[in-house]
Amino acid sequence: MLTDLTLTEARDQLRAGAITALDLTQAYLDRIHAVDPQVRAFLLVTGEQALEAAADADRRLAQGDSAPLLGVPLAVKDVLMTRGVPTTAGSRILEGFVPPYTATALERLFDAGALMLGKTNTDEFAMGSSTENSGYFTTRNPWDLERVPGGSSGGSAAAVAARLAPGALGTDTGGSVRQPAALCGVSALKPSYGRVSRYGLIAFASSLDQAGVFGRTAADCAALLGVMAGHDPLDSTSLPERPPDYAQALTGDVHGLRVGVPREFFVEGIEPEVERAVRAAIDRFAVLGADVREISLPHTRYGAHVYYLIGPAEASANLARFDGVRYGLRVEAGGMWPTYKATRGQGFGAEVKRRIMLGTYALSAGYYDAYYLKAQQVRTLIRQDFDQAFGAVDVIVTPATPGTAFRIGEKIDDPLQMYLADVLTLTPSLAGVPAMCVPCGFDSRNLPIGLQIIGPAFGEPAVLRAGDAYQRVTDWHTRKPKAAKYS
Ligand code: GLN
Repeated sequence: MLTDLTLTEARDQLRAGAITALDLTQAYLDRIHAVDPQVRAFLLVTGEQALEAAADADRRLAQGDSAPLLGVPLAVKDVLMTRGVPTTAGSRILEGFVPPYTATALERLFDAGALMLGKTNTDEFAMGSSTENSGYFTTRNPWDLERVPGGSSGGSAAAVAARLAPGALGTDTGGSVRQPAALCGVSALKPSYGRVSRYGLIAFASSLDQAGVFGRTAADCAALLGVMAGHDPLDSTSLPERPPDYAQALTGDVHGLRVGVPREFFVEGIEPEVERAVRAAIDRFAVLGADVREISLPHTRYGAHVYYLIGPAEASANLARFDGVRYGLRVEAGGMWPTYKATRGQGFGAEVKRRIMLGTYALSAGYYDAYYLKAQQVRTLIRQDFDQAFGAVDVIVTPATPGTAFRIGEKIDDPLQMYLADVLTLTPSLAGVPAMCVPCGFDSRNLPIGLQIIGPAFGEPAVLRAGDAYQRVTDWHTRKPKAAKYS
């Protein structure tokens, strides 16, 4: 089946003329039609545009055009702006909004010949860990339709797991590509802060947000990152230096690679089956010749406290622009203040309002020093933990999540429990370092388990090499979920 090809396999077969972009795209659209009514990964399917782009790609392929991703279909999280295509960030407040430009990360993929199948579901403004905070509907986990796919990029993770797209884009502020990748059994990478342009990402927390990639393999992630990475004059936080060749980093050789295992990540609350699978994966690295050693990241336990002050503080400022005047929803209520109030009151969901209130409080006079400033200081300590650790090791491996996919509804009334779903992915985001997730096993309910591989800032090559080497000797990433077997 065409939809069983990984992204890099599809890319190579397109280039070799063994398959056409039109057939491949049609196969995905057919599968979306058959399977997505159960999974509900997509907020919007742009089939017509996808087929037009595929026909164009086939013409260019026939002419020997060597654009690196020519004819490769992708799913795109609805937090990335798409010119002429509605973009909601999962929020009712952006219903009907059609952006006038495309996010740079995505534009680069289009320039490389990739095409878009549609926009995927997300927790509202990327705030959440399950897609249950979406203003539209909840996406289901392809391994068990009664469970969440993770979040906030749950639609993109579920789409790749269910073979509704060979690759996808997400955004990650504190774990939003790694946590859903773990829960859906796919591979994903959050790049270093500054590696990929944030221009055209609907902002949540600007000092943390990064565009990330999903694929079935580390090699797929490398292929996407290689195109997306690089300086963008429209994002002053993007790094001016040229990115390295990520595909070349996939040597399969981790001999002598120094792998750190931080003891603070194997904390109380980790499901025993998750710990067992992750420990087995670490043993695998030792067998491959890596130099595995225990390390310490002593400030890990402050990660959630710091993240849930800085994230909401930045969000409260970023979300001020949604006032019913410039974008999307407008609830007329007679006069400026009543209209602001009514629009924001109706347009934002409960979690977004909670974050705006938390953030506003943390930034207000009299509390700023005690909360926001203190959080920034502890963030520095967390970053120093990583700096110090990377003096002695090349990569750090940890569980990606404390547990496997939870039931829809299980944590939605307990925000604190929901926040803890990505307690293990928060500190790399706070430190700005790259981190990926690869599947490393299944629990007794046949739900996927994810391994997190963290690198030093701009150390994506080592992270991808480790993920790829692991996948060359394991087959977890090749397993297919129940929902994907349908049809
Ligand atoms: N789940 C975390 C949150 O709710 C992380 C979300 C993200 O990375 N966008 O904020």
